[in-house]
Amino acid sequence: MATAKRASTLHIILRIKLQSAHQKAKTCNHSMSAAPIDPSWVVFSIFLLITAVSLIWLFWYPVWKIKRILKQPFPDHWLSIMKNNNVIYDKLPVALQSRLRNLVQLFIHQIHFYGTEGIEMNDEIRVTIATEACILILGRTIDDYAKIKTIIVYPSAYFTQEEDEHQNSVRLGESWHNGRVLLAWNDVLNNSQSIIAGHNVTLHEFAHQLDQEDGYSDGVPPLPSGIVDTWVKAFAHRFNELTELAEKHHHSFLNPYGATNPAEFFAVTTEAFFTEPFAFEKHYPKLFELMQGFYRLDPREWR
Ligand SMILES: [Zn+2]
Repeated sequence: MATAKRASTLHIILRIKLQSAHQKAKTCNHSMSAAPIDPSWVVFSIFLLITAVSLIWLFWYPVWKIKRILKQPFPDHWLSIMKNNNVIYDKLPVALQSRLRNLVQLFIHQIHFYGTEGIEMNDEIRVTIATEACILILGRTIDDYAKIKTIIVYPSAYFTQEEDEHQNSVRLGESWHNGRVLLAWNDVLNNSQSIIAGHNVTLHEFAHQLDQEDGYSDGVPPLPSGIVDTWVKAFAHRFNELTELAEKHHHSFLNPYGATNPAEFFAVTTEAFFTEPFAFEKHYPKLFELMQGFYRLDPREWR
């Protein structure tokens, strides 16, 4: 009897559940058939999704990537290399040393190094070159080097064929528009282990990269619009002056190679600004002021 009663109760419960489920199904079917999805909403939702993903890729991902790289501890042996090979490192204020280490980490992460003519790539070469290159952007950001893809390192000065000429010339470095920089390792090392007034091949080639950031090698890197006229006037005046001195084979404070064209003049000026800032400021006060504004640095403080 009790079993029959329990069975009857279960039967009632089951019926109620089945009716409820059926009702829900009916309700769902009803609502779906009553409000079909508008195709324009689907297109709009996809558009929103693509926009959100693009914004994340453009703004959030680069910041996240930089933070992730900088979370890695700076390797001890990299610091030893910097201290041994980059004489400028110990002269920098502590805040700039820290900034330089961060830039070197990002630089080595984003740029590929290759050795050629017997050079086997290693951390000493990578860290030494990255340190010299990043001195130029201590007051700027790693974005200035976003277009640089590859650094090719030769053991020493190398031969290259000049365009439109059938003869080879000797090179210590080159800087290309396609994001390639070529360097002679023994010159890089000589210039980084001791400061040579007016000469540093790594600073020279990476100054070309900064100049080329806007697509033109013309001695006028990307500048705030209010500065351009002053820059062009001041640099053109000094470039013409150096050209005249070079043509007459007269002595000049700047390397006469700067008279080759305005792009070389900017690169040579950069070498002087970082390697002999006091003398450069004395000879070219206006150019010093403009370079100080561009690099957002004062190398006179690093002595
Ligand atoms: Zn050059």
